[in-house]
Amino acid sequence: MDPPTPWITWAMALWNASLNQNMLHEMTSPFATQAEAVVVSWLAPYFGMQGGHFCAGSTIANLTGIWAARDAGGVKKVVTSQAAHLSVQKACRLLGLELVVVPVDARGRLDSSQLPTLDDACLVLTAGTTATGSVDPLELAGAAKWTHIDAAWAGPLRLSPTHSAILDGIEAADSVAVSAHKWLFQPKDSALVLFRDVGTANAAISFGGGYLVRPNVGVQGSRSAAAIPLLATLLAWGREGVVQRLDYLMGVADAVANAIAKSDRLTLWSQPQTGINVFRPVDSTAAAFVQAVPDGMLSTCVLGGETWVRSVAANPSVDVDLVVDLILAASRKDT
Ligand SMILES: *Cc1c(COP(=O)(O)O)cnc(C)c1O
Repeated sequence: MDPPTPWITWAMALWNASLNQNMLHEMTSPFATQAEAVVVSWLAPYFGMQGGHFCAGSTIANLTGIWAARDAGGVKKVVTSQAAHLSVQKACRLLGLELVVVPVDARGRLDSSQLPTLDDACLVLTAGTTATGSVDPLELAGAAKWTHIDAAWAGPLRLSPTHSAILDGIEAADSVAVSAHKWLFQPKDSALVLFRDVGTANAAISFGGGYLVRPNVGVQGSRSAAAIPLLATLLAWGREGVVQRLDYLMGVADAVANAIAKSDRLTLWSQPQTGINVFRPVDSTAAAFVQAVPDGMLSTCVLGGETWVRSVAANPSVDVDLVVDLILAASRKDT
């Protein structure tokens, strides 16, 4: 599930540790501040956003987006699907907002026919749910007082000319969360929260202490220069290099899905939407199946009270034929 990191990010992480730049103060992070501005201003337009900042993960990015929804957008409740990431629940608990959970359809997407009124709500849509990689109907963005899109997993597909349309509609959101430590191949603690109107959002989520030269924006105080490893990766690979890997991984997921669909010993839950396959053996349990492949290769998820096997296309160096062979071999074992 956790993508491997390119070596250039290890070098940048060492360099970051040696300089120990702190994004809280521009004087202590002259280059990191510029690097973050460059990366954010390059990435934000892919999502229709103006700007934003790095944070230590999409749990915090979601909390920050929903915080802005409350204090800049004036929302009174949060509406999301039952497949949303648990960080949405955490944010509601921390922010004292009511959470309304909407069922999903047969492909794991928020069922828009079951939405409550949204005029005082922050609608949280997921682009790539944790269990099944499903993408909520993003055309709903803009239908609520505030729309936050949790694109922690699938957000980087926006860079791919082939797959970008999967996230069409995202540009009408008010805020977006993207994890760079997933499909942008960064070491952990790297994510972004982006805003369509960054001035208004930042005004609501900033504090200016006397010792700060500029206001402290967002949830974290001192934070690392996570933009630097990402900038280095983007310079080294280019957009093309990122896209090549993402397109390959989408192809891996399709190949795995095709092999599963053809097997009479396996049931495919549904065609993969964003690189995640969910399936199960016909005459054994999901847990036994996971035991029959190398450790860490597959995980499980629970859908509608039943346990399924889950395969995440996260490693662009993976040999797709080997993955298919191991899955088919496990399906032939009497587990
Ligand atoms: C991983 C994930 C999160 C949480 O992000 P972290 O970076 O692990 O904090 C939130 N939402 C979705 C859809 C995710 O896949």
